[in-house]
Amino acid sequence: MPSLARWVYFFGPGRADGSAAMRDILGGKGAGLAEMANLGLPVPPGFTISAKLCLTYLEQGTFPDQLHDEVGRHLKQLEQATHKKFGDPKDPLLVSVRSGAAVSMPGMMETILNLGLNDETVQGLVAGAKNPRFAYDSYRRFVQMYGDVVFDLGKQPFEEVLEECKRRRRVARDIDLPPDDLKALVHEFKAIIQAKRGVPFPDDPTAQLWGAIAAVFRSWRTRRAADYRKVHGIPDDLGTAVSVVAMVYGNMGDDSGTGVAFTRDCRTGENVLNGDFLTNAQGEDVVSGARTPEPLAKLKRGALAKVHRELERVADKLERHFKDVQDIEFTFEHGRLFMLQTRRAQRTGLAAVRIAVDMVQDRLITADEAVQRVPPRDLDQIFHPMVDPRAAVTVVAKGLPASPGAAQGEAVFDADEAEALAKQGRKVILVRPETSPEDFHGIVAAQAVLTARGGMTSHAAIVARGMGKTCVVGATEIEVDAAGGRFRANGRVVKRGQVLTVDGTTGRVILGAAKLVEPTVGEHYGKLMAWADARRRLRVRANADTPADARRARELGAEGIGLCRTEHMFFEGDRITAMREMIVAPDETERRRALAKLLPMQRGDFEGIFEAMAGYPVTIRLLDPPLHEFLPHTRGEIAPLAKAMKLPAAALERIVDGLTEVNPMLGHRGCRLGITYPEITEMQARAIFEAACRVVARGKQVVAEVMIPLVAHVEELRRQAEIVRRVAQDVFLAEGRAVPYLVGTMIELPRAALTADDIAKEADFFSFGTNDLTQTTFGLSRDDAGRFLPFYVEHGILKDDPFQVLDQEGVGRLMELAVRLGRGSRNELKIGICGEHGGEPESVKFCHRVGMNYVSCSPFRVPIARLAAAQAALEEQGVINRTRATV
Ligand code: PEP
Ligand code: MG
Repeated sequence: MPSLARWVYFFGPGRADGSAAMRDILGGKGAGLAEMANLGLPVPPGFTISAKLCLTYLEQGTFPDQLHDEVGRHLKQLEQATHKKFGDPKDPLLVSVRSGAAVSMPGMMETILNLGLNDETVQGLVAGAKNPRFAYDSYRRFVQMYGDVVFDLGKQPFEEVLEECKRRRRVARDIDLPPDDLKALVHEFKAIIQAKRGVPFPDDPTAQLWGAIAAVFRSWRTRRAADYRKVHGIPDDLGTAVSVVAMVYGNMGDDSGTGVAFTRDCRTGENVLNGDFLTNAQGEDVVSGARTPEPLAKLKRGALAKVHRELERVADKLERHFKDVQDIEFTFEHGRLFMLQTRRAQRTGLAAVRIAVDMVQDRLITADEAVQRVPPRDLDQIFHPMVDPRAAVTVVAKGLPASPGAAQGEAVFDADEAEALAKQGRKVILVRPETSPEDFHGIVAAQAVLTARGGMTSHAAIVARGMGKTCVVGATEIEVDAAGGRFRANGRVVKRGQVLTVDGTTGRVILGAAKLVEPTVGEHYGKLMAWADARRRLRVRANADTPADARRARELGAEGIGLCRTEHMFFEGDRITAMREMIVAPDETERRRALAKLLPMQRGDFEGIFEAMAGYPVTIRLLDPPLHEFLPHTRGEIAPLAKAMKLPAAALERIVDGLTEVNPMLGHRGCRLGITYPEITEMQARAIFEAACRVVARGKQVVAEVMIPLVAHVEELRRQAEIVRRVAQDVFLAEGRAVPYLVGTMIELPRAALTADDIAKEADFFSFGTNDLTQTTFGLSRDDAGRFLPFYVEHGILKDDPFQVLDQEGVGRLMELAVRLGRGSRNELKIGICGEHGGEPESVKFCHRVGMNYVSCSPFRVPIARLAAAQAALEEQGVINRTRATV
């Protein structure tokens, strides 16, 4: 360890050794305290021990020698600043010992208050404050917290004794216990520690301090802190700093207190100071729930109005300084305000938008910065109800947050039942092991979908997201017994009819009807998006399969359709029967008969979509049905189909058996279908061009882009494109008009990316199908990945699920190559993406950087992609998000 390293940094009134820029060393709390001291705000003096020591301590189990000297020197400095002495029986300096990492982890690590008390120094506190109740309340809290944190005994053994004491005395608040009871509690708590740990409670303040410092460092490794880091993607090697701060007391009487405030309302964004406080209370009381805190507005009038005015002044100064909303902790002692913490406030998506826009109007930030500072993903919340962040909830399981928003209803385990109950006006949640097109009507009827298996690109995820329906998939902790009408999860059983809340924004499955909040889109959203649109270069399209989706996509700002999955058009009603007839047709004649039934359905849908898109480009992908998703499986499915086809059920069963594939995702799908059965491609091309001509005949514009899926070899594309162009000519001749169109391909197989120069010779455009490209680059089945991929992410083998966040180093490298090779052959090649990544902010930014023309994503993610595209353009110009650099 370098001897010249500095480990300890002082802060006091008007000056500090550190600043907000030193978060890595001082942690968020230490950096905030230092910055506030520098700003001349009322901060109790103290010092911060570097977070850089945390991991060294955890590995070696000891502190460097030099640290003892440094802490000793800073303690002296603290004594001078407070005119008190540590361990002085007459007027003791007491301190709080607080944790704080560079990235805020609210409530995850530890704090100890009133350190320095023992049976002697407490007498000094009694004499100084002339308030024995205050002194013993402080002592009681200290021993309790020390027992919990340093001796690792948890809260329970102490709380039981405290509750019993309050019951005996019939008082509600701890502070209402008489001093003698509080004193007795101190001794009882010490006895608990002695009995459970076999060592006496340390009375020496210096020993207390070192014990607390070590415990705060150790708290970095607690299970809950580690879990929190995992969920929020915070690196494990940051470590926490330790701040030692002179105590100020909120428990000195009714003119003292403590609270938490936000400089603006972080649920709505309204510019109003708000929060909670408690009088005659300390530290954790406000958040612990032991007493119900009062709203801050109550401070405005009455004896403590001065504290409120002072808080407003400080809040304003902090916002102007940090140029962002702050979440602050404060204490007032006999009416005098002290700031204990300031940090960037967490906020809902709705609030993030309003705050960013208002701050431009307040001239705190520029429009560029406003666009840069709203996390694109947070826009999700603007269009969906969400679980009230303040609601207490019982989480039964967690899965992947496949489609955002929150919805609630009765659990049902069968799509038919979901539909039947919904028809009666009941709200239902469809719970399935996984879904298939069979379940589509159930998905439509349900408020939300929950599956035990499947990843972010599973059937349920894609379908629900496309509809903007709340969905959680891959909740592996749940064991679905669909036949028995129940599921089991973490020791609980949820039965048919029981109410659940599905939170598709976080992946939580909640028991009962959690409180929801309905956000509304307002003028602030409009302003922010206008700024974003003016700054982005990437166009944003939507993946939409129906006219209704297309209209919604337009409302959300889509500038075209980047993917219309034509097989999705057959999920509904009896259309699936016609589709199945086509798939199982024993020969070409039968297939053509089935195709003739499908043609008018497709043509009608295409007309609707072309109309809705009013001249914006519409990319229609030819059929790509993984056969297993469409084949009938059960007797109940086979019998009616056999009847419709006038075939014996046994014969149909044999056909289905013959079509069953070992590996359907790599099987007879995509263009392989059109190659082997060209009549399918002919029918689809006819439907597209006839629809286009009809819409044009009604005086509307149409730009049609026909897309060939799953091409591996240029020859596949060449043959399919030839059919499409031939049918176009036939239709145009028959209709007496021509419509502009392009024929392009998806790049969704590694071979296509590697030979993109050849493929570009036959393609007017490329669209990256990154769902399949991820599947095939990793050699990882989309359908099965949910079983083990979460393990990879949990154990750090992969940073993210590559089906959610584009794997830039692997899949991305293939894409860069394909862009380069493709444009090398055809300079003006239009290139986009239509895999699920097209709506994921980091992936959108990647698409911008490699020079694509557009991204395409599900309609509800269009705003996210628009904002991410603007941020990518701003990043290119070097506009950074300043808030990230502040506390
Ligand atoms: C893809 O593979 O990325 C794609 C968009 O096609 P699908 O998800 O329908 O296979
Ligand atoms: Mg695909």
